[in-house]
Amino acid sequence: MANKWVYLFTEGNATMRNLLGGKGANLAEMTNLGLPVPQGFTITTEACTQYYEDGEKINDEIMGQIMDHINKMEEITGKKFGDKENPLLVSVRSGARASMPGMMDTILNLGLNEEVVEVLAEKSGNPRWAYDCYRRFIQMFSDVVMEVGKKYFEALIDKMKEQKGVKQDVELDANDLKELANQFKAEYKEKIGKDFPSDPKEQLVEAIKAVFRSWDNPRANVYRRDNDIPYSWGTAVNVQMMAFGNMGDTSGTGVAFTRDPATGEKKLMGEFLMNAQGEDVVAGVRTPQHIDQLKQVMPEVYDQFVKICHTLEDHYRDMQDMEFTIEDRKLYMLQTRNGKRTAFAALKIACDLVDEGMIDEAKAVSMIEPRNLDTLLHPTFDPEALKKATPIGKGLAASPGAASGQIVFTAEEAKEWADAGKKVVLVRLETSPEDIEGMKASQGILTVRGGMTSHAAVVARGMGTCCVSGVSEIVMDEENKKFELGGKTFHEGDVISFDGTTGNIYDGAIATREAQIAGEFGRIMSWADKYRRLKVRTNADTPHDAKKARELGAEGIGLCRTEHMFFEGDRIDAFREMICSDTVEEREKALEKILPVQQGDFEKLYEALEGNPVTIRFLDPPLHEFVPTEEAEIEKLAHTQGKSVAQIKAIIASLHEFNPMMGHRGLRLAVTYPEIAVMQTKAVIRAAINVAKAHPDWNLKPEIMIPLSSDSKELKYVKDIVVKTADAEIAAAGSNIKYEVGTMIEIPRACLTADDIAKEAEFFCFGTNDLTQMTFGFSRDDAGKFLNAYYDKKIFENDPFAKLDQVGVGKLMKMAIELGKKTRPELHVGICGEHGGDPSSVEFCHKIGLDYVSCSPFRVPIARLAAAQAAI
Ligand code: PEP
Ligand code: MG
Repeated sequence: MANKWVYLFTEGNATMRNLLGGKGANLAEMTNLGLPVPQGFTITTEACTQYYEDGEKINDEIMGQIMDHINKMEEITGKKFGDKENPLLVSVRSGARASMPGMMDTILNLGLNEEVVEVLAEKSGNPRWAYDCYRRFIQMFSDVVMEVGKKYFEALIDKMKEQKGVKQDVELDANDLKELANQFKAEYKEKIGKDFPSDPKEQLVEAIKAVFRSWDNPRANVYRRDNDIPYSWGTAVNVQMMAFGNMGDTSGTGVAFTRDPATGEKKLMGEFLMNAQGEDVVAGVRTPQHIDQLKQVMPEVYDQFVKICHTLEDHYRDMQDMEFTIEDRKLYMLQTRNGKRTAFAALKIACDLVDEGMIDEAKAVSMIEPRNLDTLLHPTFDPEALKKATPIGKGLAASPGAASGQIVFTAEEAKEWADAGKKVVLVRLETSPEDIEGMKASQGILTVRGGMTSHAAVVARGMGTCCVSGVSEIVMDEENKKFELGGKTFHEGDVISFDGTTGNIYDGAIATREAQIAGEFGRIMSWADKYRRLKVRTNADTPHDAKKARELGAEGIGLCRTEHMFFEGDRIDAFREMICSDTVEEREKALEKILPVQQGDFEKLYEALEGNPVTIRFLDPPLHEFVPTEEAEIEKLAHTQGKSVAQIKAIIASLHEFNPMMGHRGLRLAVTYPEIAVMQTKAVIRAAINVAKAHPDWNLKPEIMIPLSSDSKELKYVKDIVVKTADAEIAAAGSNIKYEVGTMIEIPRACLTADDIAKEAEFFCFGTNDLTQMTFGFSRDDAGKFLNAYYDKKIFENDPFAKLDQVGVGKLMKMAIELGKKTRPELHVGICGEHGGDPSSVEFCHKIGLDYVSCSPFRVPIARLAAAQAAI
């Protein structure tokens, strides 16, 4: 049987959303509910996909069904395309599975031509309306279908208004509009080189193609990527009989929400305009009236509308966002959908619906978009102020939040200026661990280089600070403290703003709003915790971050990056001495200085976690990241080491690596310098013994995590050192503390040999930042430079460093779990790469049986919610 590509509204229902798109499925559902819906048909999302498969052509089978359905629509409505008695006019609108407001195109009043407009003018006795429809149609068709910019037509309208000495479009009369329609057609001919099409069927086919094409327009592609909507879904096209809101003072059009989308308050919200059509309400040409005023303007219509709102909300059991048109006192429903809302409103609405007995707790949990919680936990731009701002550039949305402040170019200045009470944003080519203090002091961090798992991104996320990374459009001159962006040169002290949720950058200040956690937040989270199986831990290196994460519900530390602890105060000095040692003795002497400092840090972490699991990862990054770069620092080091400056420089030069990401890092450091592992083991175990003494009821059991292993013998070598050292410490202290030694799984070979690795490792934790890097062979710091080309060419839909590549990296993870558990059935497994805080990746982790995800503190609530949704 031939595929069915087109459905009448009477043939569909709300469950057919994948095929009919949200709008089409809901138009069908409203029709089934007996609501006043102008009838029509939906061309399926599959037809859109087919259109692309056929090389952007509507094939004969689909075209045949479209033509059939035009006939059916003519029968249902009793009107005919191009008819001189009773002409049919339609709207053509997109509608994907997930709503993508404003991203795709709409055409109204299709079916008009010179003859039909005359008929309408005469029959309706309302020529002004007829010509208003006609000029709008020419304008929209030219813009959407033929891409003749709107501005040419707007200029003609402005000219006409000026000639007539009027201010508003509605003040133009029938003759003016008729004349405008002629001018528009002339404009069309001049731009396109052909007459404006007069055959309604030809108009329709072109409009349908334009909607299909709009699925692939740049703004839709960006929106999809930001909102996790697959390209493969395609959009449906809805062809619907027009209802006219512009027929005079007894007609109008509007949009309304059943609850306030900003606050969640239960009251009808919305706006309408009399004698208007389509976009007029949102376009801001005239000021719309509040929906409550419809009660005065047209009481019966208002009452009917309120009743429909109740019907729809009861039916969908969620807040509805509706479009309606009143044609000569008759109400028509053009759309309903679950309304978009702020995170604040989402929480309130979900809780209210539970209290009203409309939904259960599980449904409430699944209604909240996890990523939206970001806006509750971080500052955001004032929406009104943001509307007025135009981005001057865009980078990766690396860490959410809004930042506005004076530009500084170094971490030291960031700190100095902030200490002096200034609000600063740190702009750098890239950040390094040395910059931590300055990053903390900044409102936000902007980097020219780097991807979603680069240093700046990871650290900013941990701090909860806004970060936009990989802004390759910036022409940076760090030395002279200036950069160019969007055609302007910015100097130190100039003010810029940027949005870590969208990646947009703005010139000048934009007002920000502080984070505000809604009262209902705790309620939803406690419901989420009832459903989830996955535990949620946090990536935290400081007691401060750990405490924050605990407040947000973290159940342990899944990753403490010990290297981040070396940059506070003057600790780095001892560390540099360690690096620049020639002999084991020299190195051990330097490590002796570091030991008590690390031990103190770990004690504080255990205290902050109150007996919950703490996983401490041993030193990972290559040593060259820690060496001094400035002459004075090199001299200082040479002095304390009793070496010459030349000797220190020679050591630094010898540490230089061509590809440090694949270099001397992770457990390779412990293989070459076992003393480092000895020191870190002592620090972990001594801290645990001390804290356990003070809190015997906490059942402290440190988890020592060895990074970057790729071979069981390599891991065994390091593990033996750890075990020997730990056991000696425990025996010496007469303690009975237990500990575990596990490894990060970050290298494909570790996945392939996970059965062997599990002989040594008591737990696995996937470091998917490195695992992604090494599986793709994409450097995590540099991939941002070329990934855009991959999106443009539809090779990738998402950044694999942000959203786990389930097909490739995910397959390796599954393999590692299976092999690992074969050897050690009780093996516990987590993830601590940045994907641990990404909702779709969390869902995948649930599916493949991980025990926990670990993410930066501010993403803990997101992970809790996503874990619950995965389990529901
Ligand atoms: C990882 O690689 O996923 C990881 C968590 O370790 P890091 O980001 O510190 O390399
Ligand atoms: Mg790693």
